[in-house]
Amino acid sequence: MGGKPKTMLIGEDGLRHDGRKPDEMRPIKMQVGVLANASGSAIVEYGRTRVLAAVYGPREPHQRFMVLPDRAILRVRYHMAPFSTSERKSPAPSRREIELSKVIREALEDVVLLSEYPRTAIDVYLEVLQADGGTRVAGVTAASLALADAGVPMKALVAGVAVGKVGGILVLDVDELEDSKGEADMPVAAAPDIGLVTMFQLNGVLSEDELERGLSMALTAIENIVSMEKEALKRKFEAIGEEV
Ligand code: ADP
Repeated sequence: MGGKPKTMLIGEDGLRHDGRKPDEMRPIKMQVGVLANASGSAIVEYGRTRVLAAVYGPREPHQRFMVLPDRAILRVRYHMAPFSTSERKSPAPSRREIELSKVIREALEDVVLLSEYPRTAIDVYLEVLQADGGTRVAGVTAASLALADAGVPMKALVAGVAVGKVGGILVLDVDELEDSKGEADMPVAAAPDIGLVTMFQLNGVLSEDELERGLSMALTAIENIVSMEKEALKRKFEAIGEEV
């Protein structure tokens, strides 16, 4: 927080350091079915942030004591590749990665129909290939796509985006610079088709009004991202149709 002058983050023209308007997302790209050996997979980009998701299962877990008699267990591993940051990140799992794995699991757990697969495990591996802010929310989007690609039944698709506050202004889809130098960062994930918010975190301080406006900004963006997820899934299944 603080550090560089705020004019660096919001210029006199009201635009952000990378030329975006306050409510503008970075360019989003997504592709489903990118790995041959996983049950489902996806790659998602929010600007320079790039996350790969691989899903295995439902399958019998290696540690059989972990199974639950009435539902599948959902396991999530969020990991940042050593080459994903400008300074090499240690490949060993950090406290931050362990915490984010849990937060992302909780963002998915309420939509996956776990009771359909008792005594099994569904594993979601998230590998951050390139980090430039918003890796947890891009990770949720990638995981949702990979689960759908694996044919895991879900109540709805989930997507995430982070809203921040820089130079006193609310901004959508914060990148690493805005995250580290801004006043607040609020990652949100939701399943708009069933009206469910599944992740809601706040780092920094926002007024009640800013919080409400920020949440509504995030939810509007999430609706758009979920529409893009549906398009990405359709593209994959159309390609299969053509092959057949
Ligand atoms: P998120 O990626 O979900 O925004 P954080 O707010 O913890 O999560 O991190 C913000 C950004 O800071 C990351 O996207 C990444 O660009 C950078 N970052 C996080 N951890 C590290 C690390 N260990 N080394 C270098 N950069 C990091």
